[in-house]
Amino acid sequence: MKALCWYGKRDLRVMDVPEPEILGPRDAIVQVSLSAVCGSDLHLYNGHVPAMERGDILGHEFVGTVVDVGARVEGFRPGDRVAVPFTISCGRCFFCERELWSLCDNSNPNAYAAEALYGYSPAGIYGYSHLFGGYAGGQAEYVRVPFADSGLIKLPESVSDEKAVLLCDVFPTGYMAAENCSIQEGDTVAVWGAGPVGLLAMKSASLLGAERVIAIDRFPERLSLASRFADAMTLNYEDVDVDEALRDITGGMGPDACIDAVGMEAHGKGHGRVYDAVKQKLRAETDRPTALRQAILACRKGGTVSIAGAYAGYIDKVPVGAAFNKGITIKGGQTHVQKYMPRLLGLIEDGKSDPSDVITHSFGLEEGPIAYEVFKHKEDGCVKVVLRP
Ligand SMILES: [Zn+2]
Ligand SMILES: [Zn+2]
Repeated sequence: MKALCWYGKRDLRVMDVPEPEILGPRDAIVQVSLSAVCGSDLHLYNGHVPAMERGDILGHEFVGTVVDVGARVEGFRPGDRVAVPFTISCGRCFFCERELWSLCDNSNPNAYAAEALYGYSPAGIYGYSHLFGGYAGGQAEYVRVPFADSGLIKLPESVSDEKAVLLCDVFPTGYMAAENCSIQEGDTVAVWGAGPVGLLAMKSASLLGAERVIAIDRFPERLSLASRFADAMTLNYEDVDVDEALRDITGGMGPDACIDAVGMEAHGKGHGRVYDAVKQKLRAETDRPTALRQAILACRKGGTVSIAGAYAGYIDKVPVGAAFNKGITIKGGQTHVQKYMPRLLGLIEDGKSDPSDVITHSFGLEEGPIAYEVFKHKEDGCVKVVLRP
């Protein structure tokens, strides 16, 4: 089969590789009909996530049809149309039973590596390095899905692949980021990053009762999408002092909640940007936390900072004194996708939300390497890319 494989920093190749097989009785094999490229895939592409190996198949957002199941799969049969959560979860451990699906204790065969870095290992993730299990990803024609009964959701005919593929990660991730803000009626929520997760966090914040949503980015076309898609006020941080602008908008209080939907490759400007770039080059810091710093400083006293953008390692100069003295709650984490999928599928089916509005570009799987370049450089107003095998 054809698969999009990682061969090094900015070196992706479409390769002929063996088709996956059922390895355990709870596995299923899914024939992929559509996959998506995620902002977090760019961290792999740009060489920021350790433990990638040449030939690894990328992709953790994909939908398709079940073509084979193991002997102990109960809820799915060949022919079922499905979406696949990006985190792999056994459905039976302490964490899965508490709906903390992304923290599953049984799905990362390389847990020892993650434990060395994080103390305890999170769940395995498709196509997201050997630190997260070394699972083959979904930017391919077929994928093996372990723990199929807790790793698949059936799709009704009425929901297109384009809508469904956003249920695998970015819609639940945006939704969880907003839910983590404990939004009260009348709240103002500021969101750093108007990429797919940021846009869906804005939309979700409104669904959860925020009165005002503010989008912060530097790309005019993303900001205008934020205003159209999520009815957000917009701030271009290249034109305004974000902290001052947020103060003005909120009568000097600061936003009730701030969402960092940027993560470890924040761009930023001025001295902070240079500082992080140098430290990262010297390997004295793995991640660039510009958006997180701003979010903590801008947040109102007693407010919440919710982290949706991915971080992998260590960051520097995080204003923990500000967070402590302002009594800020900080929440984040990989998304508990299985918890949110049914609810969000319901919103799509009822026509209350169409997340596919964030998809701007579609390529064939063969054009994967080009798709990553277009997405990386945000060429041609690119916000979200899908790949069709
Ligand atoms: Zn993703
Ligand atoms: Zn589990």
